Amino acid sequence: MNIYIFADMEGISGVSGSDFVRLDGLFYQDGRRFYTMDINVCIDACFKAGADAVIVRDGHGSGNNLLWSELDPRAEVIQGNSGSTRLPGIKGCSAIILLGYHAMAGTTNALLEHTYSSTSIQNMWLNGERVGEFAIDSTIAAEYGIPTIMVSGDDKVCEEAKNWIPEIVTCQVKTGLTCQGARLLSRETAHKLIREKTIEAIESINRIKAPVINKPVKLKKEYVERHQIHIGNNVKMIDGHTIEITSNSLEEALLIG
Ligand SMILES: [Zn+2]
Repeated sequence: MNIYIFADMEGISGVSGSDFVRLDGLFYQDGRRFYTMDINVCIDACFKAGADAVIVRDGHGSGNNLLWSELDPRAEVIQGNSGSTRLPGIKGCSAIILLGYHAMAGTTNALLEHTYSSTSIQNMWLNGERVGEFAIDSTIAAEYGIPTIMVSGDDKVCEEAKNWIPEIVTCQVKTGLTCQGARLLSRETAHKLIREKTIEAIESINRIKAPVINKPVKLKKEYVERHQIHIGNNVKMIDGHTIEITSNSLEEALLIG
């Protein structure tokens, strides 16, 4: 059993604002340590629950955030630019964990809410339903036949995840107060929760279904401002800010535009 951990920084325990997740942020070096610690707790729990191998994707920003020298030596990590694949190395895994996630753009009182890019994307819809990174990434995993078994982050992303995959195990390490503030569990309590929930999720693999969506998928992207778009057979202009991509692969649609 191989487990894939896709890690983002916004929903990591101890992170309470953009200063922890931006390269030029005052607390970015602390953010990297907190990120690596949550990942290591999750890796250890995966092995305790019977995993044979764990692959970690450093999925925040440029993909070079975790402290490689501090990573649990039993795991492999994928860093940097992965080209045209959102989930490099996922083939052959039994399940994916979305660790340190955040709510979709526009969610009220959600910590660091956005959808892929806070500076360029206003909203996204998948087959007519407004979605964020949780729904899109879990659906891309489903295209490989792989279920998303756990999410960690604030209360808002946990709720969003339950709406998309009702059986998912959620691990709420904080409560979002505003876009730039949260009520945090202590480090010890958060790590204990990540450990318990990871084990529970792996024990639940067989009852958690991968989301099924109609194909071809229609992915609508509304940009913050006018955007230079290359209109093609599968890309339709909706208005000056919005395009709709039709594709048999959500992973491919995500990278267009
Ligand atoms: Zn991020």
